[in-house]
Amino acid sequence: MTDAKENVERIVAEADALYHDLDFGAVKRFKEAHPEAKVIGCLPTYSPKEIIHAAGMLPVHLRGAGDQVEIIRGDAYFQSYICQLPRGIIELALSGRLASFDGFVFPAICDVIRNLSGIWQLLFPEKLARYLDIPQNFDAAVGGRFYARELRSILDDLERLSGAKVSDDDLRRSIAAYNHNRTSIEALMSLRAERPWLVPADEAYLVLRAGDTLLVEDHTRMVDEYVAAVLELDRPKRDHSRVVMSGAFCEQPPLGLIRTFERAGCYIVWDDMTISSRFIVGDVATEGDPLAALASAFVERAVESASVYACKRQKGSELCRTVRRSRAEGVIFAAPSFCDPALLDQPMLQAALDKEQIPWTAFKYAENLGQFQVIREQAGTFSDSIRLWGQ
Ligand code: SF4
Repeated sequence: MTDAKENVERIVAEADALYHDLDFGAVKRFKEAHPEAKVIGCLPTYSPKEIIHAAGMLPVHLRGAGDQVEIIRGDAYFQSYICQLPRGIIELALSGRLASFDGFVFPAICDVIRNLSGIWQLLFPEKLARYLDIPQNFDAAVGGRFYARELRSILDDLERLSGAKVSDDDLRRSIAAYNHNRTSIEALMSLRAERPWLVPADEAYLVLRAGDTLLVEDHTRMVDEYVAAVLELDRPKRDHSRVVMSGAFCEQPPLGLIRTFERAGCYIVWDDMTISSRFIVGDVATEGDPLAALASAFVERAVESASVYACKRQKGSELCRTVRRSRAEGVIFAAPSFCDPALLDQPMLQAALDKEQIPWTAFKYAENLGQFQVIREQAGTFSDSIRLWGQ
């Protein structure tokens, strides 16, 4: 038990240090250990990290500056009525914190990320900046083929950057490494849904966020060790309500806000905060054409999210399924202020919940929010109400 407790504390402390290190010391250490290797920053929400990893590079997920960096120059590039995330990323870049990065991938999720990619090309013409077009058509013969071509084109850019060819076997090895990582993350997510008192939301979040920076093999080890250690702990089960949190797939809420939910009496049994690491449901095939396998996994098994065009099912049906699967009693919509994808989806998701009589509450945040009292009261009232009247 003491060993398990020490292990959990050590792993969470390691993940917490990565979370708070906006100078990206881990990236610098990676480059010192692999002087020839490149580092690629991946903007939200989802990038096919397998192809970056296969090129011998370190993919690092960038999520803004959180509440740790004062935005001074970043504000000059964006109007006031858009989300906070791009200002934080510009601030990180202009303050030299991303100097050890060699390239960046900007997935097509919203106009903000699209515009950020344009600003990037003007500000940092010497760095690789790739816009990743994701399909709007989910027929494998149409959108799948388009996406496989897009992946090929990014891989061509990465090969030019490194000066080395990437073989199909390199890609298959990387796909297998990410399959393993998704399996480990799934085990952690299942444990949260089954026994949330063992896995506090902030710990789960930090351990999953560590995957933004670590090599995938190291992150898989961390997740496996964390799950094994918490299973040995005897943490008390509290009289909390079980909630799903939805809408935080891009700009992240501050850590203090995640802790606030639990302090307000909510166990978060599922959330979309680190959805990028769970974007493909299940394994990607390790036989055949690896780029086609990645493309068909995306068009056939991408998780439902406001950052992907949904045409296969009724909006909200997947959220209702997630609520049932995780035995949640309600949903907290927590979306970044001015986030078009999240906030445009919300009315449709709320209508689907209403139809199934699933209670919900909603509020907005910014990554640098400093005051949580009002949200704590709202979440606490929601938690009490679903426990008192939910039956
Ligand atoms: S928070 Fe929303 S609007 Fe802002 S970059 Fe992310 S998806 Fe786009």
